Amino acid sequence: MTSSRLLLILPSSSYRAAAFVEAARRLDIALTVASDHRSTFEGALPANHLYMDCGDPANVTEQARRFAADHPLTAVFGVDDTTAVAAAHAAHALGLPHNSVAACEAARDKHRQRVLLTRQGLPVPPFALHRFDDDLPRRAGVAPYPCVLKPTHLSMSRGVMRADDPAGFLRAAGRLRAIVGRPDVPAAGRDAFLVERFVPGDEFALEGLLTGGQLRVLALFDKPDPLDGPFFEETIYATPSRLPDETQRDIAAAVERAAQALGLARGPVHAEVRLNAAGPWIIEIAARPIGGRCSAVLRFGARGEVSLEELLLRQAMGMATDPSAADREPLAAAVMMMPVPRAGRLVRVGGVDDARCVPWIDDVVITAHPGQVLEPLPEGSHYLGFIHARAEAAATAVAALRAACAKLEVELE
Ligand code: ADP
Repeated sequence: MTSSRLLLILPSSSYRAAAFVEAARRLDIALTVASDHRSTFEGALPANHLYMDCGDPANVTEQARRFAADHPLTAVFGVDDTTAVAAAHAAHALGLPHNSVAACEAARDKHRQRVLLTRQGLPVPPFALHRFDDDLPRRAGVAPYPCVLKPTHLSMSRGVMRADDPAGFLRAAGRLRAIVGRPDVPAAGRDAFLVERFVPGDEFALEGLLTGGQLRVLALFDKPDPLDGPFFEETIYATPSRLPDETQRDIAAAVERAAQALGLARGPVHAEVRLNAAGPWIIEIAARPIGGRCSAVLRFGARGEVSLEELLLRQAMGMATDPSAADREPLAAAVMMMPVPRAGRLVRVGGVDDARCVPWIDDVVITAHPGQVLEPLPEGSHYLGFIHARAEAAATAVAALRAACAKLEVELE
């Protein structure tokens, strides 16, 4: 019998609905999905779907409050950076357990995050916040080269650019100003951008779950493709990491301290970490799970029977979880976020069936749709799709991803 209800805030741009809905079904959680598009089911199933402006904390809180008056809620959960903040506001108003609003806001705001990490003595590259209407030639004259310019409130590496000299700085700042001025970019963080020293080294991504401020590592991913700029396109994530156990522990400890520095105490964290001779550097920590369709590659429990979404919902709903259920399955796993090769309108992606037949490939999912106008980074905000592989060894899974990707023919006009 269903006993408790979750309000899941899921923007219509998210690819993640199916995985969460399936997890809720398996856990017998009554689920209400709040989304920013009207659903045809809304009238028929008013308890299962709510229409709201998912990016607006005041609207989310008001609607959640009204809804909860008739349908008591156990938890509110936002799936991405923006909805995590809205969920924090709503949970606070309803007296439900959640990370604080301030912690979720700090995780979303790259500048605030740098300030808090510095305050707690975590290794952070020198950084500065500049306004677009500052005297930028003067700023460019004193920036720490090579440096990285980035928006304060975007994700997926959108708008993140490396500059090696003042001319490159000014070019990147002009391009970034145009990106944050686009209508699809939220108003927060339109006026200013962050500049920080480029941190050399290999990059890793940590997927974890916080409980009472303690970090449980769910997966540490290697990123085998170099990320040296000028743009920082994510491509392949592979786990388990090739790093020695001790280094993995150092990374986990740094992420846990970073989460605590922001005030995050519970729920998912996704962190990007660079590693060099000085040790691990937190590039970013987010109060949300891994994005896009990547989570499908993570399976937990001895037979891989538990999804990441199930682990997250169990925790959000206060359901007891056997600790071993959060151990990743024994197989290695890798996922490719397929980048957009150039700007254009997507005509078709051919070769998908052939790509699916490559050994070790679990799935090839094209998320872009024919007719969609796509742009590469730094302007773009979509991947073409995702490829998943699982194998005995991470290197085998990575090779399978590359072989499958080579079979795809992307036609753009
Ligand atoms: P987003 O949230 O959009 O992904 P990040 O701040 O995580 O933005 O930056 C995206 C990527 O850009 C990082 O994963 C990393 O590869 C690169 N990057 C960002 N800042 C730095 C830095 N200071 N030094 C080196 N690389 C960086």
